[in-house]
This record gives sequence, structure tokens and C-alpha cells, in this order.
Amino acid sequence: MSNIEQTLSIIKPDAVERNLDNEIKEMFKKKGFSILKEKKIQIEKSEAEKFYKVHETKPFYDDLCNYLSSGPIVVMILEKENAVLGNRELMGATNPKDAQEGTIRKKYGISIDKNSVHGSDSIDNAKIEIDFFFKDWKFLKLLWDKVYALVIISFSLRSF
Ligand code: UDP
Ligand code: MG
Repeated sequence: MSNIEQTLSIIKPDAVERNLDNEIKEMFKKKGFSILKEKKIQIEKSEAEKFYKVHETKPFYDDLCNYLSSGPIVVMILEKENAVLGNRELMGATNPKDAQEGTIRKKYGISIDKNSVHGSDSIDNAKIEIDFFFKDWKFLKLLWDKVYALVIISFSLRSF
């Protein structure tokens, strides 16, 4: 049975700074991910704090938020079967030293803090994180789908 999921991926500042975004996107595509939506942005520290709120009690929280907001990032909605787990596998372990051969973090990660990519860790968090960065898009898409449906309905009614 098909189990198409969407997940949020971020190419972090260390990778964007080294112009690795296209190579990383190619790795996703080669594994069968579709990139439904993407944007290159720089976020404020306050936004990074919101995004990483689950880690607010951790000793690395402040550095992490400074880092994520320190330069441009590429945020993407990835889609494929079992995308959440598939993305976690392709990313590799949090610490690049522990990441397996063939993973993004093994190939490009510099250190545990500069580990090149973020990926949602569960289906629920994927929805929350996609909303965090792409709420406007989801709203517009919903609106567009409704308008499209109305147009189709009114055309079919006319032809009666
Ligand atoms: N992190 C860190 N020091 C640590 C653990 C994590 O700087 O000891 C950073 C790291 O960049 C990681 C992010 O905090 O990607 C979020 O941590 P998490 O445990 O959620 O790892 P991930 O889901 O990114 O593998
Ligand atoms: Mg995490």
C-alpha cells in the first residue's frame, strides 16, 4: 500500500555557505524525493528559537539558534513514500562522525553543530514544521483547489 508522506528539510548555513545546496538536492532526487516547494531565506534568531523550541532546555540551544539564523538556509518540502524516515536515513546521524557512508552528514557535515541538514523526526512534527515555513503556500493551495473545484462545478452545471 502506498504511504506517500511529506517532510521538511533544511539545508543549514554551513552547507549553503559552501554552495552545496544543489549537490544536496541532487542526493534527495536520486533517492526518489520530489521537492514540492523550496525557498532560500535567512531567518531571525527569534524564529530559530520558535522552530527549535523542543530543545530550549538543552545546553546547545542558544548556539543552535544563533547558528540557524546566521546565514541563508534552503527550506524544502520533500515528498515520497515514507518520506520522514527516508529523509532521516539519508541525512545520517546527528554527529557526522557517527554517520554512515552514503549519508548527507557523512559526506558534508563538519561537526555536530554544523551538520549541514535538518529533517523532521516524525509525521506530526513534519506537519508542524511544514506549516512553520510554508503556511501561506498551504493556504493559497487550499484556496486554489476550492476555486478550481467551483469552476469545474459551474462548467458542468452549464453543460446540462
Ligand atoms: N546539536 C548540537 N549539539 C548537540 C546536539 C545537537 O549542536 O549536542 C544541534 C545539531 O545541529 C542538531 C540540532 O542541534 O542537528 C538538533 O538536535 P537533534 O537532537 O534534534 O538532532 P537532529 O534531529 O538534527 O539529528
Ligand atoms: Mg531533531
